[in-house]
This record gives sequence, structure tokens and C-alpha cells, in this order.
Amino acid sequence: MAKKIVIVGAGPGGLTAGMILKHRGFDVEIFEKEGCVGGRNAPIKMNGFTFDTGPTFLMMSFILEEMFEETGRKAKDYLEFIHLDPMYRLNFFDNEVLASDDHDKMEAEIKREFPGEEGGLNKYLKREKKRFDYLFPCLQKPYSSFSDMLKNPLLKAIPHLDLHLSVFKALGRYFKSDNLKFCFTFQSKYLGMSAWECPAAFAMVAYIEHKWGIYHVTGGLNRISEAMAGVFLEEGGKLRFNTKVKRLVNTGRNVTGVELEDGTVVNADEVIVNADFSYAAVNLMDKKYVKKYAPDKLKKRKYSCSTFMIYLGVKKKYNFPHHNVFFAEDYRRNVEDIFDRLKLSDQISFYVQNASVTDPTLAPEGKSTIYILVPVANLKGDIDWEKEKDAFKERVLDEVVKRTEMKDLRENIEVEKVYTPDTWRDGLNVYYGATFNLGHNLRQMLYFRPRNRFECFDNVYLAGGGTHPGSGLPTIYESARISANMICKKHGVPYIDPTKLDRKNTI
Ligand SMILES: Cc1cc2nc3c(=O)[nH]c(=O)nc-3n(C[C@H](O)[C@H](O)[C@H](O)COP(=O)(O)OP(=O)(O)OC[C@H]3O[C@@H](n4cnc5c(N)ncnc54)[C@H](O)[C@@H]3O)c2cc1C
Repeated sequence: MAKKIVIVGAGPGGLTAGMILKHRGFDVEIFEKEGCVGGRNAPIKMNGFTFDTGPTFLMMSFILEEMFEETGRKAKDYLEFIHLDPMYRLNFFDNEVLASDDHDKMEAEIKREFPGEEGGLNKYLKREKKRFDYLFPCLQKPYSSFSDMLKNPLLKAIPHLDLHLSVFKALGRYFKSDNLKFCFTFQSKYLGMSAWECPAAFAMVAYIEHKWGIYHVTGGLNRISEAMAGVFLEEGGKLRFNTKVKRLVNTGRNVTGVELEDGTVVNADEVIVNADFSYAAVNLMDKKYVKKYAPDKLKKRKYSCSTFMIYLGVKKKYNFPHHNVFFAEDYRRNVEDIFDRLKLSDQISFYVQNASVTDPTLAPEGKSTIYILVPVANLKGDIDWEKEKDAFKERVLDEVVKRTEMKDLRENIEVEKVYTPDTWRDGLNVYYGATFNLGHNLRQMLYFRPRNRFECFDNVYLAGGGTHPGSGLPTIYESARISANMICKKHGVPYIDPTKLDRKNTI
């Protein structure tokens, strides 16, 4: 008889684990509290406009391809990928850069905006390639015991970690201008971290973009989760919508299944938790066994920032790039307000996605979707979003109108939705509204991050941004594959060691 796996949550992590394990012959059932798949990667649909709730950047697309290949399929048979060049526009008060994964274009761009600094690009790419080659295999392995830290590939990678440096400091090796350093360090925001705190190891993130490029998916990145759910169902998996898991049922360290909100108990041999880790530890698990992650202990941990979101369906199209990052005039103060002082900053940095410039399927003819993301403090601070929401939205729109091409934006808004950190916490069960999960500081990585085979029980696994290797779609897919492979190993089901696979883009 096939072993029964229950998965809590149909976000990217849950779906990846689900489709891989179902393909390998397990009996898999996913419980999702919402009426659709995707979680933070679900679509928001309003009056014919489609928005991605969260992720809009798809990087390391080869990892996504591998996940489909794990099920004997090709991602491009399910999804249409659009390569973005420029990758993104980076706007500072005194510089503007169109970043490209085309080496010559990028070099010319640096030469134009930061004359004399263009030689740094080759140095950066060469050194960060080396770092990536050593570090990437470490992100594909589990760290169940401390001794795993003392084995290869991590042992070999240690000299390339630059443990004493932050991402921002590491960039000082290649470039002098702060703005140019920001072009290669703002990516620490993908991890919800400050470039001045984020470990230097992550200086390779921009290298990854420059090496493999950034992709959009027609219909939005939410289509990836829908496609994965399609594969899961084709394989015969069971997907239960509008079914909230109330708790994991355990006898001591052994979890025997889950109890649903209506009291039904579903038995399982293994349980995979995809719901936000800290939320799940506090709300779904037997407190006696998760003392390590009790609320007072979690409070002492570092969490990512949160985000204030404005999704606008507008009556016209604007001609400017797909991804745009606008840095606050005093970017450092803005970052410190968000991460250290946990307060509403008088500076605003923001990201605007103008996806309709690439993808006409997202809005009715002649109209477009505008997605605005503003990094803000997580809910460990005491900002009263009920009180601040409307005024903050107006402040953000003022900045957007002032700094982008959308001078007539307000007159053209047809529909809108606003998410505050409270929305992430209350609507999507995101602990502290920390949209990018636990921080990725060294004390919360590898063995020190909640483990893929969750250390507090014998048969609970984690898949998602809260476990190893971390938050971000490619790493979430890896977390799910690591957990799936551990379950296979336990039950004698064959699997391929992902570190042995070639890294190639075929889309
Ligand atoms: C605004 C934003 C922008 C982002 N941008 C990017 C980006 O550009 N690129 C990138 O790679 N990453 C990005 N990320 C990070 C990351 O890719 C996404 O957050 C990703 O969706 C997280 O996936 P997950 O599987 O960890 O969890 P989630 O997406 O949170 O999925 C968890 C699922 O569990 C369900 N659930 C929760 N509790 C229960 C329960 N009790 N019972 C049943 N179901 C439950 C939820 O409804 C949800 O569907 C972004 C995130 C955000 C929020």
C-alpha cells in the first residue's frame, strides 16, 4: 500500500512537494484553507484585471524546469516564459540604470552612469560565479544534524562565505559608488533583509540574475502554482480547497495525521507543512513538542520586513519597463527605519511592476495592471495600520506620481486593492506579517533554520520559505524537493541527488 502523505497548504512549497511525491507513487492529499492554490503566489482578480499577489521575479528558471522534470514533464509545455531585457530599471535621485543580463549592454550602462567603474562588472561576475559554484550545492542538501555542517559541500564553501562581511561591504570590492553598489545589493530585499545586514554570501544573487536572466510568465507568476496543481491532479493527487487544518495530531513525537476545522481527522504516515512556518509552529503544533519555537522564543528571532501593497487596475497603458525599483533619497535611513527602528519611515523606496507592457493577457484591451510594493517594518513594531493605511497609501501614490511616468495615475484608476502587514498576518497566516519569512542571517540558516525534516517531530517535514534553503521561489522549490527526497529515502523510493544535475536553461 502506498504511504499516505498529507500536505498543509497549496503554496509553491506544498505544490512542488505534492507533485513530486505523487509522481513517485505516494498517496498525497493537500489541504488548502483558501479556494485556490498559490498562497502568496496566488492571483488577485478584479474586473478583468489579474495581479500576482506576491512574486513577480522568476529567477533561476532552471530550478523550476527541474521540478517539472522530476515528474517526467517539461515546464514549457505548461507555461509560457518571457525573458525580460532590461531585467529592471533602477532609479536613484541622481542616477538611472537599465540593468541587463546582456554583458555588453550592462557594461555600457555602467560606463554611461558611473564612468570609470565599468571594469568592476567583470570582477564582480568572476568572483561571484566562484561563490555561486561553491555555495549552490549547499542549498540543495538537508542539514538535519550539526555534523552535516562539517561535511562537503559546505566545508568546501566556507572560505567563500565571507562570514565577516555584509552584502553591501562585499560589493565594495568591485565598485566605489554607493548607487552602483545598490544595483547589485538591493536583491537582499528579495530575502526581506537590509543590504547592510544580509550575509555577503548573498552577493551572488545579482550574479544569478546576470547569468541566467529574469523571466515573466504569461498570465503572471501565479500561473506556475496553477500549473503545478494541474500536474498534481493529472498524477491523481487529491487537492481539498476551503479546508483549513486545525492542528497536527500527535502521539508524542509521532504525528499520526491532521485534524481539520470541522473535526475530521485525516491519518497520514508523513505530514508536510507548507503553511508559514512560525504561524504553524504556534497555531498547529502541540506546544509541548515545539518549545524551541514558542512565541517568546520566536520573538527573539529575526524576521524579514513586511510589504505594503497597492494593486491598481488602470484605464490606460504606460510605456515604461516591466520591473522598476525607486530608491529613497536617503536609502540607508529608509532601510534602518524598516529593519532596525521598525517604524514608518519618512523616506519611501518602492517597486512598480508594469507587467502589461509585456503581457496583454493581464488586463482588458487598452488597460493595464500596476503593482506597487513598498517594503515596510514587520509587525514586531507597533505601527497601527488601521490608522495609517489610508494616509500611507496617498503618500505612496504621491511618490509614484512624482517619480514615474504615470503623472495621471490617480485619474485612471479603475479598481484597487491595498494590503498592509495586517493583511498578510490575518488573511494569509503570515507570522508578524513578515512576508519573506524568518530572516536569512547566519544564525537562521542551514542547520540553524527550522529543518526540512522538522526537528520537533519524527515524521513532519517543512516545505516553503521558512525552512532551508530559504524564502524566494527557487529556494522554496528546492526546500520541497529536499523534503520529498528525505521522505523517499526513508521509504526506500529512488530519487536523484539534485547536486548531480546539470544547470541549464532550456526555456
Ligand atoms: C509581496 C511579495 C513579493 C515576492 N516577490 C518574490 C519574487 O519576485 N520572486 C520570488 O522568487 N519570491 C518572491 N516572494 C517570496 C516567495 O516566493 C513567496 O512568498 C511564496 O509564495 C511563498 O511560498 P510558500 O510555499 O513558502 O508559502 P505560501 O505562499 O504562504 O503558501 C502557504 C499556503 O498555506 C496555506 N495555509 C496556511 N495556513 C493553513 C491552514 N491552517 N490550513 C490549510 N492551509 C493553510 C495558505 O493559504 C497558503 O496557500 C515574494 C513574496 C511576497 C509576499
